[in-house]
Amino acid sequence: MLEIDGSQGEGGGQILRSSLGLSMVTGKPFRISKIRAGREKPGLLRQHLTAVNAAVAVCGADAAGAAIGSRELTFIPGKVKGGEYSFAVGTAGSTTLVLQAILPGLLVADAPSLITLEGGTHNPFAPPVDFLGQAFLPILGKMGAKVAIALERAGFYPAGGGRFVASIEPASRLTPLALRERGAIVSRVCKAVVAGLPGEIAMRELEILSRKTAWGEECFRPVQLSADQGPGNVVTIALASEHVTEVFTGFGTRGIRAEAVAEEALGQARDYLAADVPLGTHLADQLLIPFALAGGGSFVTQSLTPHTVTNIDVVRKFLEVQVKTSDLGKGRWVVEFGNTD
Ligand code: AMP
Repeated sequence: MLEIDGSQGEGGGQILRSSLGLSMVTGKPFRISKIRAGREKPGLLRQHLTAVNAAVAVCGADAAGAAIGSRELTFIPGKVKGGEYSFAVGTAGSTTLVLQAILPGLLVADAPSLITLEGGTHNPFAPPVDFLGQAFLPILGKMGAKVAIALERAGFYPAGGGRFVASIEPASRLTPLALRERGAIVSRVCKAVVAGLPGEIAMRELEILSRKTAWGEECFRPVQLSADQGPGNVVTIALASEHVTEVFTGFGTRGIRAEAVAEEALGQARDYLAADVPLGTHLADQLLIPFALAGGGSFVTQSLTPHTVTNIDVVRKFLEVQVKTSDLGKGRWVVEFGNTD
């Protein structure tokens, strides 16, 4: 039984989700203690409990400690079964993070899957579905796993009520990939989305982005969703380059000015462009598991975040894979993967 310390490094939910995913893939049972000890409300919240329950359902696992507030969990996986599943977080908790937990298992399952997820689709501190669909999943596609998502309804904090469907075509083995260069920028799309809020908010967000960049008019798109999907507001900047697409997000929150939401997304996009790397910080921590499963390849990214460093430690617990990180200078890092056998 592997012992995982949920308080290590970053000390958040990712340690749990990565452990679930890697346990499903390897068949290795684990016990995690001090779950989310680094967070203000430690233990399992609805999103994390939904992820545990989803993992249990998908691989017929035995789990002890799967309850709200629990700080300890024992998970004994069974065989992953592809198929049709529905999971509802029950609050505005992030649905994409639930998928993050079960995806590694489903990627190497013996049959395709269709997963319906209900809850939040655009949550602060979580990948929004746009990021998943445009940035993360296309790279998995290049590694041989075809995963497509369809957003049916957006869900924002605190109302939730969002829904998306993911269809997953597993790959018997993920192909190693070398992502060392971004290549030339092919397109820039700034979207300001509002639901149940005045359209003027989106216009102000796009105006500031337009003023602060030299990008053409075609780069700016306001999106008004039906009011029943709100209230919610999000700004995404999608930068498509020759070898990769990145998506940067600012989340509208009560009390935060529209201009600040747009500037948040723009600040991230500028840092990424200045570093001249293919992968931004979020893609880097989320691609660690697929790259490690592929057992080879490498990527260049911005300065390593606590999420990335901690996730490397979790990966090393479950997999016999070498993960080497090197500082290339000027805020650029390379992460290289290799088989130990
Ligand atoms: P945790 O904080 O441990 O629950 O993990 C949060 C996860 O969400 C990490 O994989 C982050 O990279 C990811 N994440 C947070 N914010 C964003 C964002 N704006 N875009 C994409 N991924 C994000």
